[in-house]
Order: sequence, then C-alpha cells, then structure tokens
Amino acid sequence: MSQGRPEDNGTAPLQANRSPLRRALWAAFVYLLVGLAWIGFSDQLAEAWVQDARALSEVQTWKGFLFVGVTGITLFIVMFRQLRKDRLLLMVQVRQRKVMREHERQLTVLLNNLPGMAFRFRNDQLGSFIFISDGCEELTGYSAEELMRKGSLSKSGLMGDDSRYAIAQEVAESIRQQGFFSIEFPITRKDGRDLWVWARGTGLTDDEGSRLLEGIVLDVSRQKALEQELEELATKDPLTGLLNRRELSRILAEELERAHRYHRSLAILWIDFDHFKKVNDRYGHAAGDLVLSTASRILDSSVRGVDSVGRFGGEEFVVVLPEMGQTEALDTAERLRQAVRDKPVILASGDQVSVTASIGIAVYPIHGSCVEELSAEADKAMYRAKMQGRDCVAIAQPARPIHNEAT
Ligand code: GH3
Ligand code: MG
Ligand code: MG
Repeated sequence: MSQGRPEDNGTAPLQANRSPLRRALWAAFVYLLVGLAWIGFSDQLAEAWVQDARALSEVQTWKGFLFVGVTGITLFIVMFRQLRKDRLLLMVQVRQRKVMREHERQLTVLLNNLPGMAFRFRNDQLGSFIFISDGCEELTGYSAEELMRKGSLSKSGLMGDDSRYAIAQEVAESIRQQGFFSIEFPITRKDGRDLWVWARGTGLTDDEGSRLLEGIVLDVSRQKALEQELEELATKDPLTGLLNRRELSRILAEELERAHRYHRSLAILWIDFDHFKKVNDRYGHAAGDLVLSTASRILDSSVRGVDSVGRFGGEEFVVVLPEMGQTEALDTAERLRQAVRDKPVILASGDQVSVTASIGIAVYPIHGSCVEELSAEADKAMYRAKMQGRDCVAIAQPARPIHNEAT
C-alpha cells in the first residue's frame, strides 16, 4: 500500500490556475480598455472622414450599434465556451462520483465478505479505532458498532498486555523497514473463548499526516491446533505421551552441553521393565499397552519439573536429570523403582498387574562425557541390575579416575 503525502491531495492543478476574481477583473479591464479605445479612436476617425453633422450623427449611431453587436457576439462566444466547459466538468464529476460510489460498494461487499475482519486503527498508544469491518462479529463476538464504541484496541478487552506489546514491537519494526507487519497472537472472544488470530497489515500516513495501521485479522485457531498436533506427533510417543526417542536424545545433548559449559553434573537413568513379555503373554498385548502407559505416568509424575522422561522403544525408558550427582541420582532411581513396584495396574477385567523395573544410572562427568558414552554406560548398568536379580538399581563404573567428583 502506498504511503500518501499530506500535500499531494490532487488540488495542485487547481491551485496553479489564477483565481476567478482575478480572471473576472482582468476581463473587465480588457473590456474597459477596448471600449474606451473604441470610443476615442472611432470618434476621431468618424470626425476626420465625415464632415456633415447629420451624417456624422448617423455614423455615431451605427458605430454604437456596431460596438453593442461586436461586444454582444464576443460575450456570447465567451459565455458559450465557458458554460460548455462547466457542463462537461459537471458530467465528468457526476461520472466520477458514480464510479467512486460503485468502488465503495464493491469495497464494502469485499470487506464484509472477508473470512475475518478488516481494520483501520490510529497508530497511537491506545490503537484508537477508525474502521472495523462487519466480519469482526464472527471473529470476536462483538459487533463492529460495539467495538467502535469501546474506542480502542487497549480498551477492547480482546487481548492481554503481552500481545499488545508484541504487536507494537512488530508494527514499529515493519514501519522502520517500510514493509508489512504479520503477527499471530491469542484473543479472548466476547463469549470468553480463546482464539489464535493472524494479523497482517501496514502502516501509512493519511492526508492530515496522522499515522494509521490498516490490515486484516484472520482466525487461525485450527491451523494453530494442527501445528501443535504435528509438533506433538514429532516429539511425543503416541502410546505413553512421553517424549519420543528423537526428542529425548535432543534434550539429552542440549542438557549435556549446558552441564559441560557451566561445570555441572547430569545423571541419566536407563529403565527396562522386568519380564514384560510375560505380561503380554498372560494378559494380552492391549493389557500390556495399558500397563506401559500407566507405568509411564508413574515415572513422569515421580520426577522434578526440570527432568525429562522419554520412551526409547519397547518397554525401555530414559530419564534425564539435569544438575544431579550420584547420590541424588541413586535416590531418584530408587524412588522410581519403588513407585513402579508399589502401584499395580488394574485391568478392565479386574486383574491387578504388578510390574518391576531394573534401572541403570550414569552420571556426567564421572561415567562419560558425551551422549553415546553416558547412554552406553547407563545401559550396561541396567543389564547389571538385571543380572543382580532384577527390580533393582545399579550405577555405572567410573570411566576414569575421578579427581573432582560433582555430586
Ligand atoms: P527382561 O526382564 O529381560 O527385560 O525381560 P523382558 O520380557 O522384558 O524382555 P525384553 O525387555 O527383551 O522384551 C520386551 C518385551 O516387551 C517384548 C515385547 O513383548 C514387549 N513390548 C515391547 N514394546 C511393547 C509395546 O509397545 N506394547 C506391549 N504391550 N508390549 C511391548
Ligand atoms: Mg524388559
Ligand atoms: Mg526391553
């Protein structure tokens, strides 16, 4: 959209023309000059050519008629041309008004049929409304009149301060770069329902020099939900809702990097359920799934908010415990082991299924310094726990002599 300059309002050609008063005075002046010159010269000429007094009087009479006739014809020609011009101008104006009315009608139809709402705000601190299309009722639950009565975006109650701040930042940046602003933010409808909307528009300056914002707002809640769903699919395990192997590996690498940078410890737990094949064999695969998802919830609810629990595959789980040393990791693993063991899963058939888990622990930097080393050490420790009779916890062997153990 173009940025209108205040002085460029289409009146330049009119201003360049001389004023009507000056033109009329100029015409009267010319008429006076010609009239006086005619009277003076024609009288002298007539007196020089005609000596007879009667004939001179007749010549002067005809001279008078001639003057009236010539000025009459001149006036007719000038008036005719001017009136014809005026008429043509009027016709052009009427046609232009018709075209403008048609454009306005088309614009109104277009705006009111947009799948969202079109807006024009003042770019002031409040975001004062100038225009809101009828589409706002479907989008926000408020009619255009209701919103206009509220006066501004900040008094509309549609969004929180955070969103308003984010929008102001985005708008300022887009104006600085002379481009469009485009931003997604949540709004609360009149009925209290929350929506995600996408606003796109531009900043401009009107004829009076006021800074305005124009654009459209669309409901993108469905796309947003889909995006979240896709994100969940990419990062979560569908059976248990825990993080999937890829996401947990990413988090483990990230946390390990942080632990390395800030010289902190980090522990991982490798968990495998004991004799899980027997659960499937005895109660069926669907019951096995239920036991797995219930046990996953137990694991997830038994760790801190900063910890991450993921399903690595089958009935094998990994827990990342940032900033945790050996002692705390042993306590946590023991707590998880007992939580799984003490909470049997009740099946739809009424059967109670108790499961136990073997847990291996590896701690950075004692048992390894990279994802692969730590994972291998924790896995080995888990197998040692299996060897020791299952339903127990084992910690990895130190990879190298420890001088400064983080606990
Ligand atoms: P161990 O104590 O040695 O670990 O014995 P285990 O029977 O648990 O043996 P293992 O860990 O090697 O085998 C895992 C079994 O878990 C194999 C499979 O029947 C079962 N399992 C793996 N994934 C799923 C799943 O998604 N759903 C169900 N119901 N069972 C699964
Ligand atoms: Mg197992
Ligand atoms: Mg297994």
